[in-house]
Amino acid sequence: MSKEIISFIKEIYRGWRDVNLHAPIFVGNEIAYLTKCIETTMVSSVGQFVDQFERDLASFTGASGSVAVVNGTAALHTALILTGVKPGDEVLTQSLTFVATANAISYTGAKPVFIDVSEDRLSLCSVKLEAFLNKCKIDSEGNCRNPQTGNIIRACVPMHTFGHAADMDAIVRICHSKNIKVIEDAAESLGTRYNGVHTGLIGDIGVLSFNGNKIITSGGGGALISTDGDILKKAKHLTTTAKKAHAWKYEHDVIGYNYRMPNINAALACAQLECINDFLKDKRTIAEQYRAYFATIPDIKFFDEPLGSKSNFWLNSIIFSSERDQQRFLEESNASGVITRPIWVPMHKLDMYSKCERTEMAVTDALSSRIVNIPSGVRS
Ligand SMILES: *Cc1c(COP(=O)(O)O)cnc(C)c1O
Repeated sequence: MSKEIISFIKEIYRGWRDVNLHAPIFVGNEIAYLTKCIETTMVSSVGQFVDQFERDLASFTGASGSVAVVNGTAALHTALILTGVKPGDEVLTQSLTFVATANAISYTGAKPVFIDVSEDRLSLCSVKLEAFLNKCKIDSEGNCRNPQTGNIIRACVPMHTFGHAADMDAIVRICHSKNIKVIEDAAESLGTRYNGVHTGLIGDIGVLSFNGNKIITSGGGGALISTDGDILKKAKHLTTTAKKAHAWKYEHDVIGYNYRMPNINAALACAQLECINDFLKDKRTIAEQYRAYFATIPDIKFFDEPLGSKSNFWLNSIIFSSERDQQRFLEESNASGVITRPIWVPMHKLDMYSKCERTEMAVTDALSSRIVNIPSGVRS
């Protein structure tokens, strides 16, 4: 069975020497813009490309603006600070995510609380979120308190797993009714729309990543997007060392961060963003090919886009019926040069997060040992 699947994947990537999980392709203005950037000598934290990229990204997503930063983790960290997360607070997120989501929460001095995911979206389960928050009360200052710990639950970070939109209407409704801010970890979902709205713009603030394995890359990079111009203004200030605007004077009004995306990375990002619609189109074609193929394979389920999500199909995933089958496929595919990967070890199973509060993890535990990501990179 594995052999047949591996041959099919090689067929999809016919003509490719290596069948990577997700390699970037550079077929647009990348070299031209990088050259231009170097010629201007403006390769660092100021320059035309980083401003241009922020405008282009806002116009592609429909945000009122965007703030470009060094990576997605820094964007998450900034978003958490801007929503008022402080040491001792608690932040809700899903256990089934890339470790950066939980790490960024930890950087603020807050504690992550892990919620299970739903089977139909692989993202934060709104039913279990609501059940958890039903036990929490709003105090006299309007803060939502975890009765178990007495701590304030300040924010919730749903993540759009593999580019499939989370159940945002329910998540935002439940969180806002408890005075909890919603930060969307849209690191994997550039191009994904939820009921027509770009992911990252449904909650209070959204975070993107342009790491080398994401749908477009700036080498390393990230961004904050929002429909709230005020929060973006604060994000720009905080990520540029909180320097007060002045022609030459170095005056800073809070402890800021050196998180600005360098202009040279933004040059790459501008060229990549010009290709996004072509990339999305090819990724949808790849997903269609996988969908049709796996419909004929018993005991393997192709994870398809959930209700209301127009997914970017960042990483296609298949679900085996047992961990044994998953392991066998991982071994055989990687040995034959088709790069596949298991989904992340869930956060509640990692040493540093194993003692964090969590809901029961029936879906996370059942699925995290059976999912495999298969090659999904854009072909041309
Ligand atoms: C990639 C990713 C990030 C972090 O992005 P970096 O740019 O690598 O820091 C955060 N969250 C999720 C879910 C990711 O997949």
